[in-house]
Amino acid sequence: MLNQEFYIDVLLPIKLRQSFTYAVTSEQAAMLQIGMRVTVPFGKSKIYTGIVLRVHQQKPTYKTKQIDQILDEDPIITLLQLKHWQWIATYYMCTFGEVLRAALPKAFLLESETVVFLSAKKYDEKTLSDDAYLIFEALQHHTKLHIQDIRAILNKKNVFKTLQQLINKNVIEVEEKVYEKYTPKLKRYIKLAAQYTSEDALKNLLDQLSTRATKQKEVLMTLFLMQAQSHKPIASLDLQKKANVTASILKTLLDKGILEEYFIKKDRIAFEGDTHAVKTLSKPQQTALNQIKDSFKTHNTTLLFGVTSSGKTEVYVQLIKETLAKGQQVLYMLPEIALTTQLIERLKHYFGNQLSVYHSKYSLNERVEVWNNIKNNNTKAQLVVGVRSSLFLPFSNLGLLIVDEEHEPSYKQYDPAPRYHARDSAIVLANLHKAKVLLGSATPAIETYFNAKEGKYGFVHLKERFGKVLLPDIELIDIKEKSRKKQMKGHFSDSLLEAIHQALADNHQVLLFQNRRGYAPVVSCTTCGVSPQCTQCDVSLTYHKFKNELRCHYCGYHKPMPVSCEACGNTTLDTKGLGTEQIEAELHTLFPNKTIARMDQDTMRGKNAYAKLIDALDNQEIDILVGTQMLAKGLDFRNINLVGVLNADNLLNFPDFRAHERSFQLLQQVAGRAGRTKKRGKVLIQTYNPFHQILQQVSSYKYEEMFEEQLHHRYQFKYPPYYRLIKITCKDKNYNKVQKAALWYSQALKNNIPEIIVLGPESPPVGKIRNYHIMAVLLKIPKNKHLNHIKNAIGIIEKSFDAIKDFSSVKVSIDVDYY
Ligand code: ADP
Ligand code: ZN
Repeated sequence: MLNQEFYIDVLLPIKLRQSFTYAVTSEQAAMLQIGMRVTVPFGKSKIYTGIVLRVHQQKPTYKTKQIDQILDEDPIITLLQLKHWQWIATYYMCTFGEVLRAALPKAFLLESETVVFLSAKKYDEKTLSDDAYLIFEALQHHTKLHIQDIRAILNKKNVFKTLQQLINKNVIEVEEKVYEKYTPKLKRYIKLAAQYTSEDALKNLLDQLSTRATKQKEVLMTLFLMQAQSHKPIASLDLQKKANVTASILKTLLDKGILEEYFIKKDRIAFEGDTHAVKTLSKPQQTALNQIKDSFKTHNTTLLFGVTSSGKTEVYVQLIKETLAKGQQVLYMLPEIALTTQLIERLKHYFGNQLSVYHSKYSLNERVEVWNNIKNNNTKAQLVVGVRSSLFLPFSNLGLLIVDEEHEPSYKQYDPAPRYHARDSAIVLANLHKAKVLLGSATPAIETYFNAKEGKYGFVHLKERFGKVLLPDIELIDIKEKSRKKQMKGHFSDSLLEAIHQALADNHQVLLFQNRRGYAPVVSCTTCGVSPQCTQCDVSLTYHKFKNELRCHYCGYHKPMPVSCEACGNTTLDTKGLGTEQIEAELHTLFPNKTIARMDQDTMRGKNAYAKLIDALDNQEIDILVGTQMLAKGLDFRNINLVGVLNADNLLNFPDFRAHERSFQLLQQVAGRAGRTKKRGKVLIQTYNPFHQILQQVSSYKYEEMFEEQLHHRYQFKYPPYYRLIKITCKDKNYNKVQKAALWYSQALKNNIPEIIVLGPESPPVGKIRNYHIMAVLLKIPKNKHLNHIKNAIGIIEKSFDAIKDFSSVKVSIDVDYY
């Protein structure tokens, strides 16, 4: 007899080793396709949304449950995506479900724990079904509803389909932090109409104006004076105030065509004399573009090594244009959301509505919209700009992937699983689509440059800054010497102060870099030497002066700054070390009349903080900007001529095998923010070790030398690119238990996989975070050994570990290619 029972395998967004099988009716089986969503019961009372992986008739050995509902009419996930996700799960040693959870916007994964709230205040009720209307109405009275509430309201169990409809119509949203979109304020600026800009023409004009028009003359004279004093754009309000006239006088001059108004934000790029056409490439850029295209004939992945401000973005723009013209999609990846602000502005200019942006600061509904546009290959989403998670989008026809600032460590996801590297996963994705990958950087990762040298990647070098602008002059300042000679004011050497004064006098803006936030990283008692520690983590607390509190940068724990030492009671507390907040404070004293701003995790918390700061910098409302490494990333400001590094030493002393490479990259990138126009920029780096080889290499732009030296170390000490690293981390609240567990792991690894090097267990520099003690085992795997075979062996060990009752509370995470 023919088996009339139908089943589906469902992928659930949780840490399960396998997919789960559910029973479906024959009608359902006929409708279901791979990549569609269904809601299913799981465990005693949970409901999840899962993805159909297979429709079949093989009865499983366990008793199956029925699915609840089918949510989609068409698959929302493509077969290619599933293939890519499977690769990520296998390569980075996590479950397929964990990848699913990371990949889909939360609004696609409704579950029993979901909470929804109203997003549209008004809605045309007639277009809603009865059930949808009931939910809509209930949300008029409740700010949010849980799934069980909705079930009670509708008096039925299956409510997810109705909810999904409401989400698709943008009536409700799933609870998550929702960010508003930022619309930049448009500030009005005034300038003289072009025909009056010469002195003679202006004189004529003043003569022509009737004797009664004294007020108008006053405005023109004031404008002329203001322009002579500063090269900054002149805000219409400032002009009005200085000239002491009414708005109507300005309007008269504007109407006569003597003055012109403009809005910097809106026309930032057009303002420099260009229109919406793609910029004409310079000769070196054109050569680079041709080389890239040539290289793509033989290599799927090519590295564009282009110095800061060489105009890499403009080269990308040409490639994007050509790819879009072929009807293919383009993904442009950036390491951080913060960076997208300026870039989107630029790309919008060229590609208008073909551009979509995808990242977590967008509301869930917006993300769902982008997802659908991409899946349907809509013109609206031909070019996608996003951070690492944009890799998971349902591209159907990808032609080109750009990984900008490919050296950035934030391309690697650290927690939770999947701990994937977006650059490397992008290359795999490109292979699935038969697309090309362009990696771009002014300071390529050692691994990437190595691959380029080995011929695994194509290689193109853009050595010249756009407009032949010289790279900034980098000078190292010995602050040990300066202190000895009493030439320091606070944390500023006389040379740095002088340079700042000069830059400001020339109407330039200044960037100052310090890689610690807060006021001072350590507080200690000068009597007994004790430093206040975090109660949950193994670190000392950072002093934040503005709030007068001590903060843990690992867990967020904070408390008021004590008046006296908690150990000895003496009031001899002192601070050590230097954070951005302290520099800002010193600057306020040193430059009382200047506008000083700070860019670090503390000041960039608000919804639109970053965009606002960029606007203010752009409009030249900020004279000096102090910041952490956030400064280093791709900012393009025309008016910054001086960059100062307050102290380069703590970067270099970081205990990690990549510390030197990263210091080089960071300092070179920060330096690259200076002098992007004709006048050569200046960079001053303060340090106690001016002869440190990395600083020497930074100041003389010796990437190649840095690379060779670091590569040699990597070879000697068995690190990538010669060895692969896998880090296995055990965490537990109980110190003895975590030690035992990590020891068990390392023994098992040593016994079962003799061909790899097992280091540790060791506790990391910060050995306890949020009350969890941490022990890590580091595996070094020779490149010639079979990685899959080794991962399988680790997988077996993982399973035996999971079966040990004693260790059931221990959390283990596996980080492949750990960064
Ligand atoms: P990179 O990404 O290499 O640091 P950018 O692409 O940001 O460099 O270019 C630096 C600056 O030079 C930008 O302001 C850009 O608009 C300008 N620029 C680069 N190439 C051109 C070009 N071909 N025509 C006009 N301006 C250009
Ligand atoms: Zn802490």
